[in-house]
Amino acid sequence: MAKSRFEYVKHFEILDECLRNCWIVVRVDGKNFHKFSVAHNFKKPNDDNALDLMNESACGVMRLFHDIILAYGASDEYSFVFKKATKTYNRRASKLSSTVVSQFSSSYTFHWTKYFPNQKLLYPPVFDSRVVLYPSDMNMRDYLSWRQADCHINNLFNTCFWNLVHDGMTTKQAEASLKGTNSSEKNELLFSKFRTNYNDLPQVYRKGTIILRKKGCADYSKKDELFQPNSNSRFEVLHEDIIGQDFWTEHADLLT
Ligand code: ATP
Ligand code: ATP
Ligand code: MG
Ligand code: MG
Repeated sequence: MAKSRFEYVKHFEILDECLRNCWIVVRVDGKNFHKFSVAHNFKKPNDDNALDLMNESACGVMRLFHDIILAYGASDEYSFVFKKATKTYNRRASKLSSTVVSQFSSSYTFHWTKYFPNQKLLYPPVFDSRVVLYPSDMNMRDYLSWRQADCHINNLFNTCFWNLVHDGMTTKQAEASLKGTNSSEKNELLFSKFRTNYNDLPQVYRKGTIILRKKGCADYSKKDELFQPNSNSRFEVLHEDIIGQDFWTEHADLLT
């Protein structure tokens, strides 16, 4: 094809290939989702339909990118781990990041009515995304541990906070009464005031969600992708501890 005299501007594009041999993680996070969750009447502290919609959207991303070996999500965020040797988009960070977040956001909107049949979507939800590289298996595991620890810390706080609010405190009062409390004090508050044993709350709230590919399931063909956009039967959805060794022993294939 003949080149135009404008072609030189292509050289202004910066190559952003991710370093080889590194795990590539793309994390998406809802922009201003506190406001979004209030505007759309999410049940507090944890709306199950909202979590299910996040999980469905994450499955959509995993269907699009076969090199994602694991996804981990909680609240309004999801992390996608691409295998170390992936050649998807020649490892270009901007391509990976933008297509993952675009697929995620459009799935979230596309599937909205399935999870919120009685709640109109009031405005388009927005997610940001970033790419982070982890050079060692331990770094990648520590990354996921960090996100799961964060899920627990936030959930413990939110569970206390919303119990106090549902019990009659204003949000300001609830915030003030929790300020400076450590985790055992929060556990104690839940138990003594609300007869709730934190460890009895559903795992999905405390541990978040892990999505894996089922063993022995071949990848989708292009045709499947187009005509079965809602089939998630090839994924395993777990709500278990990812920090300890047990998960990685049971799923040793993830690191090979
Ligand atoms: P930012 O744009 O900086 O990410 P944000 O408002 O999205 O701001 P986050 O720290 O990402 O802040 O927190 C997401 C918020 O979304 C939570 O604090 C909670 O209020 C709300 N949220 C997300 N998922 C749920 C859910 N399943 N149930 C109830 N609330 C939720
Ligand atoms: P990639 O994923 O690499 O971007 P692509 O198929 O999107 O692949 P582009 O170079 O972005 O390729 O080209 C977009 C193509 O989309 C065009 O070649 C054309 O076939 C089609 N297209 C886009 N907009 C229109 C339109 N308004 N009417 C008809 N065809 C269109
Ligand atoms: Mg957010
Ligand atoms: Mg968040």
